[in-house]
Amino acid sequence: MNWIEMTDEAFRDLLRAFFAANVPSHLRNHPHRIPRWAESKDWYLTLASKGWLAPNWPREHGGMGLDAGKLLIYFSEIERAGIPRLYDMGLYMLGPVLIRHGTEEQKQTYLPKILSGKHLWAQGYSEPEAGSDLANLRTTATLKDGEFIVNGQKLWSTFLDDATHMYILARTKTGTRKQEGISFIIVDLASPGITRRLIKTLAGQDELGEVFFDNVRVPYENLVGPLHNGWGLAKDLLEFERLNNGSPKLPLSALNLLTAYGVSNGVLQDPWISSRFTQLRMDLEDQITAYRYFGERLKSGKGVGPEVSILKVWSTETFQRIADLFLELTGEEGIEAYWSDDDPTGALRMFFNSRPATIYAGCNEVQRDILAKRVLQLPG
Ligand SMILES: Cc1cc2nc3c(=O)[nH]c(=O)nc-3n(C[C@H](O)[C@H](O)[C@H](O)COP(=O)(O)OP(=O)(O)OC[C@H]3O[C@@H](n4cnc5c(N)ncnc54)[C@H](O)[C@@H]3O)c2cc1C
Repeated sequence: MNWIEMTDEAFRDLLRAFFAANVPSHLRNHPHRIPRWAESKDWYLTLASKGWLAPNWPREHGGMGLDAGKLLIYFSEIERAGIPRLYDMGLYMLGPVLIRHGTEEQKQTYLPKILSGKHLWAQGYSEPEAGSDLANLRTTATLKDGEFIVNGQKLWSTFLDDATHMYILARTKTGTRKQEGISFIIVDLASPGITRRLIKTLAGQDELGEVFFDNVRVPYENLVGPLHNGWGLAKDLLEFERLNNGSPKLPLSALNLLTAYGVSNGVLQDPWISSRFTQLRMDLEDQITAYRYFGERLKSGKGVGPEVSILKVWSTETFQRIADLFLELTGEEGIEAYWSDDDPTGALRMFFNSRPATIYAGCNEVQRDILAKRVLQLPG
């Protein structure tokens, strides 16, 4: 099927019809929990078999080869259908880096296994004392007899529960500027010397974790891009993360759940609640408009610029405000439901999940710093 030639409207209709007919009901409007691999695997493979799993990869690598405009349509239809996040570190983070910077052999080895779900990826950037200030990282990869010996610790790695591989940033040279001497390396998590420990989040999920490397031997061929020069690759990948995390999907699905609750309980009739709810809806509509504006900029070939930082702040803080109102409305029922098996409202889980959103993918304070310095040109 040639979706590249289709009009935007025809492409949107095609996706909408397919999602409406095929997304499994247990994944729709998931109450703010990333489904485990066992739950989402079938849907992942359905998308893969249709060739619709990797919208931003070129077609020769099994992707959809969408331009920025159609990419935006793809994501907005995913959001509209209430489809939750899949195990997507390979698809959206590593895949594009390999396509741009990997060797032919790396592309042949890893890309098909991302699409088949054989390799599940985690991101090993953050460490204790190296989160917002990532260049502070201390994990080392020392070259010895043609391989790297990795020592150190990674923290807060999403999808670690089922991950088979991790791409890491490690220091391969010392005595230089902090951002220099860092390399981007692929690690098989089954290698001897690796210990992983899962961390239970406030929301009771445990797909997040930390990894300890104790003299782990990694083949030199697992280096992606130039030795000592992984910082540029790492930042490439974070650019996507920034736009992706500025998408309105979290507040949008949160508002859908809040609306469904409010309508079924009649609480939206209350003028005070209705006014707060309306304010949130209007803020979300504004954010969607801003997101489309950045999408149009991408589509026309202009970069998104440092202004894009506003999206992440807006999306995550609107998400938190919606979660606050939802929990307030559900009251004790919402809190008690959290400990029941089916958790019919999902309000407390949503509240917990909304808290870290302002921290990950570049904390909001750092985004505000970018806006202040690079957009408003305020003094440091
Ligand atoms: C749910 C979740 C999933 C994550 N997944 C991954 C993953 O898959 N892989 C990975 O590598 N990492 C992951 N992270 C880590 C994430 O990238 C870091 O938490 C983030 O970069 C912040 O770093 P930190 O936790 O060290 O906090 P710090 O950098 O110590 O920041 C803590 C707080 O200090 C303040 N602060 C920090 N710097 C500034 C500044 N310059 N100006 C003003 N205030 C500031 C802010 O309030 C900030 O929230 C995840 C984190 C969470 C919460």
